[in-house]
This record gives sequence, C-alpha cells and structure tokens, in this order.
Amino acid sequence: MHSPLATGIYVGVGAAAGLGLAAGGYAYAAMWPASRIFGRALIAPPRPGELALTFDDGPNPPCTPRLLDVLAAHDVRATFFMVGRYAQAEPALVRRIVQAGHLIGNHSWSHPNLALSTPGRVREELARTSDALAQIAGKPVLYFRPPFGARRPCVLRVARELGMTPVLWNAITSDWSEASPDRIARRLMHKIDRNHRRGMATNIVLHDGGHLALGASREPSVTAAGQLLAHYKPTHKFVTLDAWNE
Ligand SMILES: [Zn+2]
Repeated sequence: MHSPLATGIYVGVGAAAGLGLAAGGYAYAAMWPASRIFGRALIAPPRPGELALTFDDGPNPPCTPRLLDVLAAHDVRATFFMVGRYAQAEPALVRRIVQAGHLIGNHSWSHPNLALSTPGRVREELARTSDALAQIAGKPVLYFRPPFGARRPCVLRVARELGMTPVLWNAITSDWSEASPDRIARRLMHKIDRNHRRGMATNIVLHDGGHLALGASREPSVTAAGQLLAHYKPTHKFVTLDAWNE
C-alpha cells in the first residue's frame, strides 16, 4: 500500500506507474505533462543534510503528547498530517501541536482510499478537514498527504484548488504493525542513509495514530522517532516541510 520512491524533489503523476492504485486515471494522466495539469507532489529536495519527520493519522491522545515531549527534548519541529475527524474530537491537542511550532497538514476527514472515491467525496474529505483545522489552529492549511498515498489526478487537483501542496515521502516502513522500535528505526536509517548517498534529503513517515479509530497504540513509532533524533541530530538538520517548498 505504501511504496512510492522518488529520486527528485517532485514526482509528477506520470511517474506513478506501478503503484498499484486504480489504473484508469493514470492511463489518461500518462499522456500529459503531469506538472501542467495536476501539479506535482512534494517529496524531498537534493539537500542530503536535511531530514523531515512527518507523522500521519493523529492527533491521538495516547501517543501524540509523548511524541511532543520527545520532539521538544531534541528541540526539533515536525510535520503532522491529521485526520480531520480526530482533530475535531481533540482540538486542544491540535492547538498544543501548533503552539509547539510544528507544521500541520490535511490527511483527509475519514482516511478513505481517495483513489476509489468520487470527485465530490474527495472534495468533501479535503475541504471539511481544512476548514476544521483552520478553525482550530487559526491559520490556513497548506499541505496535504493523501491517505495510503493514493494520488489520483483528481485528488491532486482538488488539493491544489484548496490551496494545498500535495506531499508524499521517500522513507517509510510498516511502523503501524511493528512492535520493535529498534527495527522501525533501523529500517528507516537504512533508507535515510541511502537517500543521503544519492544526494537527497529524506521525508520520513511515521504514525502517531491509526486510521481506523482514535486511541491506537503507536508507542514503538514514538520511541523510534526518539532514536532517529538521537542518531541524526548531531549531523543533520531537521526541518518542517515548508522549508522545502520555497
Ligand atoms: Zn494515513
């Protein structure tokens, strides 16, 4: 479900072949210069000394507060792609994240596979989330990560129309189903170091929540984030995604 790899800062829709998503849109998109019609998705720039920690599927009361403590202990800011209905249920936690200086993004209202959703549903999922987050945080939401990475052209177009830059990633592991923080951290380090050798920054995905319900346990992910911070802080600069979208 999670597999896109990219070698440049942006990857166009035309480069999405092989992702195994609903194929109809891609056959069409492949005939066109992706950047002109659908916009592109932000991944990571050619800045090998930079890392972006991103956390999906929160906010999540059992895990997000400890994650905020871990980030604060390292004086690092991260990016949180939030599920709209969780944000609506936990506005105080959203505000705590924003007040700590982290960047927040839209991860849809209910985390459906948007590649299988109607255009009307896509718009509703994204607009409702942006409205709720803007209301809670007091500022507009400028970044969007599609659930499951499902970036059908319609999804990217709607995100752009709502003023958001679509974001993917170039380092992920199945942290949501892995009990060992050591293994999560080690697998991500392997990808980070590989991107570094290729001259690229790394856009790292971890999860502080679960997409099925509020309250998921993501302790191994939070601990792994702490291990990545301890390992890379001396040699790398941790940034939020807006640093790569200038
Ligand atoms: Zn997600």
